[in-house]
Amino acid sequence: TDENTDPTEVISKANADIKTPLIFGDIAPSRKRNAVPCTATGCKWPKSGSYVYIPIYIANHYSGAELSIILRALLSFERSTCIRFVWRRTQSSYLYFYSGSGCWSYLGRQGGRQPVSLRKNGCIFQSTVEHEINHALGFHHEQVRSDRDNYVQILTQNIKPG
Ligand SMILES: [Zn+2]
Repeated sequence: TDENTDPTEVISKANADIKTPLIFGDIAPSRKRNAVPCTATGCKWPKSGSYVYIPIYIANHYSGAELSIILRALLSFERSTCIRFVWRRTQSSYLYFYSGSGCWSYLGRQGGRQPVSLRKNGCIFQSTVEHEINHALGFHHEQVRSDRDNYVQILTQNIKPG
């Protein structure tokens, strides 16, 4: 529950030897088999009025402490954005938070029950949960932005061979 835990490190450690196919470290490849699905077909959650309501379901295998970390991460979005998470009732498209193989998410709205994997052992930190929620909202990693070269310098001498 360390607030200073770097989500990038947490995620790469938790996903080190999982079998789930992932791209960019923690993003599940789109079921539509498009590398960047959001540009092709759109993957936004719909806005109704001033808010974007996103139905969620959280699997019941989390402890109270784990659940409260997940809820805190969800609420952190509501403080500064128009996103509002609501408990899933009958909505067909919703985020399904569960303890899967590691920490990963799809990119943007997929339609239907959309898993967000937050493994009990290794992913339950507020910053890590927020990171995966960002992906589910449609945000990619900053280093994938088309204008990233204006801001990032790749130090190839620091890349591990292989
Ligand atoms: Zn990520």
